[in-house]
Amino acid sequence: MRRILFENLARRPLTEAPPPKDDAALAELAASVDRAARRRLGRSLSIREVDAGSCNGCELEIHALNNAFYDLERFGLRFVASPRHADVLLVTGPVTRNMREALERTYNATPDPKWVVAVGDCARDGGIFAGSYAVAGGVSQVVPVDLHIGGCPPSPLQLLKGLLALLEQKPDR
Ligand code: SF4
Repeated sequence: MRRILFENLARRPLTEAPPPKDDAALAELAASVDRAARRRLGRSLSIREVDAGSCNGCELEIHALNNAFYDLERFGLRFVASPRHADVLLVTGPVTRNMREALERTYNATPDPKWVVAVGDCARDGGIFAGSYAVAGGVSQVVPVDLHIGGCPPSPLQLLKGLLALLEQKPDR
């Protein structure tokens, strides 16, 4: 017990270094997404996340957008609990057969204009889960996809860049 105590006192902390107080790149990127959303929608962007069967690795990165490190809400971007309040569906994972209908219903419940962003390599074509008896396929095999953000998992900055590209490149509809 004493040995463990001394070891722990001598060991360096295992936690990551704190983020810089003001991450200029993140702030600029998030502000650009918010400006683009206001241009396109007249307000800030609302995002509904749908886990269609992921391993939760992509969720950890998506959740990170809301944590104290990234704190996206300070830029006006927010996650909403209902698809009826959403502009963007962020869909992760391969779509499992159990989640197929839930994803279709979520898509149908989201008002136009809406965008679907498939997040992660699994969302493209099933990724490492492709071919499983439990998997229906990639997101585009179930609902129309406007943008795919690759990675396993994509980082929060990649997610933000993807949202910005989506808002700036798609024509109005
Ligand atoms: S892309 Fe990677 S992190 Fe995301 S659900 Fe698939 S295996 Fe998990």
